[in-house]
Amino acid sequence: MLSGTSDSFRFFRFRGIQVYVHWMWFLWAFYQISTRNRAYSSIVWNIAEYLALFVIVLLHEFGHAFACRQTGGKADKIVLWPLGGVAFVQPPPRAAAELWSIAAGPLVNVVLFPVLMVVAVWSDSTGLSARVPDFGKFLYMVWWINRGLLIFNLLPIYPLDGGQILRSLLWFKLGRARSLQVATIIGFIGLPTFAFYALSRSSGSLIVIGLMVWFLGQQCLAGFRHAKALLALERVPRHVGAACPECREKPPQGPIWLCASCGHRFDAFATDAVCPHCQTVLPAVTCVHCGTAAPIGRWQTGSRGRAADGPVIDV
Ligand SMILES: [Zn+2]
Ligand SMILES: [Zn+2]
Ligand SMILES: [Zn+2]
Repeated sequence: MLSGTSDSFRFFRFRGIQVYVHWMWFLWAFYQISTRNRAYSSIVWNIAEYLALFVIVLLHEFGHAFACRQTGGKADKIVLWPLGGVAFVQPPPRAAAELWSIAAGPLVNVVLFPVLMVVAVWSDSTGLSARVPDFGKFLYMVWWINRGLLIFNLLPIYPLDGGQILRSLLWFKLGRARSLQVATIIGFIGLPTFAFYALSRSSGSLIVIGLMVWFLGQQCLAGFRHAKALLALERVPRHVGAACPECREKPPQGPIWLCASCGHRFDAFATDAVCPHCQTVLPAVTCVHCGTAAPIGRWQTGSRGRAADGPVIDV
């Protein structure tokens, strides 16, 4: 569900990052704006408040995207959903790169916190807020929204930023797979705890909290399964003579790579990427650790790169 952008509108492009807005976002915005029209004297302020939320979420996501690029990772897409934004970031699989890519998002809210406070205080001290009460209330609400987003995102519930920061910190000690497993287990405990707390405080409707728990729970479960797969992969013997040109991980031994010409799976590193059944050469071999596809020659095996039409890998 997360990877699709077919339901989303292209909004704008900035420094190679395409921003999409999901159609449900408009529905949600309409609902939010129309149900809170008693907060201000005019609905225009509700719209302004919602747009401010939009900008804050966008800045947060750009924080993730630019930090990810700094680490040498890939980040070219941001999608805005009713329940928040998603920056599609692929940092190199290293603890420090992951940590910076995730931490930079909430860091944007940390920077905005005093900035928005100063603006609200300035408006109060100059009497502007007294003359235009709606404006004063608006400034306070924007500060409050940013604060709320910061607190929520820092909850240690995977896949929220707080949960992913926890995972990256654990990665330094426990390694890639085990850190993900521990972080997702903490997420499974934290998610119902958060839901009960939110419901007891009646700080959100049952439907919104239910949707959020379902959505976060699905992501947490996917993370847990990924951790299990990574742990299984760690136990498989490796080809010591080869290393991924991107993440430097050694490829596992075994019939993992698929020949698209004959449909057989074979060990690309045992045969120099030549299918033993039909002699077709894989044009690129995919890394099971980071997903990079590179010709076998780039895999530091000492062999030359080859090219052939037809086969694709499916791992
Ligand atoms: Zn974030
Ligand atoms: Zn790799
Ligand atoms: Zn074949």
